[in-house]
Amino acid sequence: ASPNNSLTNSDKANMKKWRVFLVPLFARSHLSPLADFAGLLLANRPDVELTMVVTPDNTKFANGSALHPVQILTYPCPPIGPKSAEPSVIDKALHMARQGVEQLLQQHKPDAVIADVMFPWITAIAADLKIPCILFSVFSTFSTVVLDCFHKMRVRPGLLDHVTVLGLPGPEIRMPVLELPPILLEDNTIEKFHKSGLDAFGIVVNTCRGIELEYCDEFEKTQARRAYFVGPVTVSYPMYQRSIIERGGEVEGESENSCLRWLDTKNERSVVLVSFGSMCVFKSAQLHELAMGLEESRQNFLWVVKDADQSDEWIPEGWEERIADRGFVVRGWAPQLAILAHVAIGAFVMQCGWNSIQEATAAGVPMLTWPLAYEQFINEKLVVDVIGCAARLWEGGKRSTRETEKELVPRTVIAHALSRFMEPEGEFSSVHRKAQEFGPVVRSAIADGGSSMSDLSRLISDLINAMENKTCQ
Ligand code: UDP
Repeated sequence: ASPNNSLTNSDKANMKKWRVFLVPLFARSHLSPLADFAGLLLANRPDVELTMVVTPDNTKFANGSALHPVQILTYPCPPIGPKSAEPSVIDKALHMARQGVEQLLQQHKPDAVIADVMFPWITAIAADLKIPCILFSVFSTFSTVVLDCFHKMRVRPGLLDHVTVLGLPGPEIRMPVLELPPILLEDNTIEKFHKSGLDAFGIVVNTCRGIELEYCDEFEKTQARRAYFVGPVTVSYPMYQRSIIERGGEVEGESENSCLRWLDTKNERSVVLVSFGSMCVFKSAQLHELAMGLEESRQNFLWVVKDADQSDEWIPEGWEERIADRGFVVRGWAPQLAILAHVAIGAFVMQCGWNSIQEATAAGVPMLTWPLAYEQFINEKLVVDVIGCAARLWEGGKRSTRETEKELVPRTVIAHALSRFMEPEGEFSSVHRKAQEFGPVVRSAIADGGSSMSDLSRLISDLINAMENKTCQ
């Protein structure tokens, strides 16, 4: 969709300013897509006033860009970073979010609310206020429907080695139980999510039909009254901006530009990007092994090491000098979209977060998967076994969503996987080709007239109708 220029100034002046509250979860991988989505809404409907309801720590990320600013309201909550992402801290933050958000909604009485699916209690609050509630999901429809099936099958981690999903379209999905998220252990959680999904006016999913069509269809049938597949918003919204480096409050800093300048010196498709999203951190021993594996692979690499990983004891002696001509380490936050769009990037070693998968897919970059937690192993199943644009970095040892159960991935495995994957016309050339074919599919979905943009228009018209007619369902 292009910004709506068909409205005259007097049209705009006579329009009611609809007030919509957006309530993201505090994690960056949830907040940034909602901020990008807010930008898309504003570009298309300047008569809607959007307010992001965030924690104080997140105000700097609440605007997708200065081009389409939103209002900001905060509720009290301690900072949540990768290091503090332990269950007790998250539980406390979720509790504070519920109290703070409820208070703000009651005080300001917006015309509608769009909230992260991780806040299932929001549907009841919206129903009390008699306003439409739309949920926003940053999860693949594949992982949502697979988890729902496992939940219905009463799969409990620990009882079996492997489980097979029953009743889904596409190839058979069989997974080791260790790779399923601990959320399946919790009695009511998935049921609560499922119920709030069906209670809500509809669900917006940051995904694209071109990537997971049959699972979008399944999601539409089983998970929501109305479903809108508008993604990948982290790719489509930045297209409106001057620079894809300047996103979500990130400063266009020297280090961010220097990694792009370094990529300029490398050959086409010759560099492996190594980055594991915004939440998961590695133990020092694993970082050390990864550093040695990257060195032994003899490949060019750009490695993003998070602030939370930075004690530096993982750096092997003399390593920085030895890899200086073919390795570049970014400390902290990297401009991932701009890096993936660079012609020098030939592969992406990643954790299978859904945003990163979509960003790689849009850029036509094949993935080497190293899932770590949450629903990442389920996403891996989709990209490796269903779609075929990725390969597993390690099939061997014990992999698990739980930190205490996983084995260290040895340097030899990492080195071998990387060099095999990067071999020109090697055994993974079909994976590379498949990934390249996906680029245009995803980019056409977010171009004018594409499936994601049509779903965005349908959502906007349904939302305006619902606010006009005060329908909650
Ligand atoms: N990201 C980034 N720079 C970084 C790390 C992450 O821009 O250094 C962005 C990445 O482009 C993606 C998001 O943060 O949009 C991470 O989301 P994802 O779903 O992949 O992973 P999670 O953070 O949930 O593990």
